[in-house]
Amino acid sequence: MNTFGTPRRVLVRGEGVYVWDADGRRYLDLLGGIAVNVLGHAHPTLTAAISAQLGTLGHVSNFFATPTQVALAERLVELTGGDRTSRVFFANSGTEANEAAFKMARRTGRPRVLALEGAFHGRTMGALALTHKVAYREPFEPLPAGVEFLPFGDSHALERAMGQDVAALVLEPVQGEAGVRRLPPGYLAHARALTERYGALLVLDEVQTGMGRTGHWLAHHDADLGGGARPDVVTLAKGLGGGFPIGAVVAHGERAASLLGAGQHGTTFGGNPVAAAAALATIGVLERDGVLEQVCAVGEQLVADLQQVPAVAEVRAAGLLVAVELHRPVAARVADLALEAGFVVNPVTPTALRLAPPLIITTEQLRTFVAFLEQLPAELAALDHDQEEQ
Ligand SMILES: *Cc1c(COP(=O)(O)O)cnc(C)c1O
Repeated sequence: MNTFGTPRRVLVRGEGVYVWDADGRRYLDLLGGIAVNVLGHAHPTLTAAISAQLGTLGHVSNFFATPTQVALAERLVELTGGDRTSRVFFANSGTEANEAAFKMARRTGRPRVLALEGAFHGRTMGALALTHKVAYREPFEPLPAGVEFLPFGDSHALERAMGQDVAALVLEPVQGEAGVRRLPPGYLAHARALTERYGALLVLDEVQTGMGRTGHWLAHHDADLGGGARPDVVTLAKGLGGGFPIGAVVAHGERAASLLGAGQHGTTFGGNPVAAAAALATIGVLERDGVLEQVCAVGEQLVADLQQVPAVAEVRAAGLLVAVELHRPVAARVADLALEAGFVVNPVTPTALRLAPPLIITTEQLRTFVAFLEQLPAELAALDHDQEEQ
């Protein structure tokens, strides 16, 4: 239905950090399917786990449990710092995970839900109501009511807005779609204290930032971002299945974990064993290969390299979620030039490129893109010249 405009290329194959188009041209995938392909493409362990599960038991209804699903739930509780009170709901995407969290917020019986300016939480009606961008929201109003947007990272505004009638505060530790904006240090800890005081749920949307993207299992595990705060609810998707569609909601604590009762929410596909096997295999490889430590080191080096590039005005980053801020609003043109040169990147704002490559990428591979950016002024000048001539 043309919701994404004209596709940039037809891609037919992937291996590791590279994809190939229908004409046989190779691209370094610096977008990773938008922070999804954490193990790159066609990873043998992931491929084997998916086909083994599909060859054993591919789908059952949620009237039944499967060992794979239970094992994944236990892993997620463990990775998110949960305990015996924690519970998991499986969905198929990020927006569905946030939709479930929104329904949990409604079950508190409180009318108000707080989100931040610049927030992106998905495209279904509930998640869209939590999403700040007017162009996304307006065509679909009226949306579920009660959502208020607070200035980004403003602790005083949060204090003023908080009250006994707030059901939930929904936050991304790093706003990906807004151009990789980190919550200021101390904000999350403050948000945790306030939500606790007023009995509101703290919901962290880690759909883009979770599963190792920032060099931690979850972005809020980063001391600067999280300050040790444990949320009541965490939503996950994107990288969770390493490319296989899956979303999850993890709730901690008796109250949050029991907000949804029997019959109050559901999904046909959510929690299916193939998706669960994909997620378990992805987590297993990230752990086995020490990928999180690598993300920290490679991410830091990338930031340092990018900061030396004249065309780059600023770099914002959390691990391997990186925004390259340019001096002029030419991000879309630069993304086109990059594609021509064999790099997949995303113009996340008019002035910034977003990189969210596979977490297995190396500094050497990333330096080929840095080298492309080095000679960018000449390329852009040539482009300006062409346009003047036309
Ligand atoms: C991508 C994203 C979503 C939506 O996930 P989908 O799988 O596209 O529905 C929600 N929240 C954040 C922070 C995201 O980056």
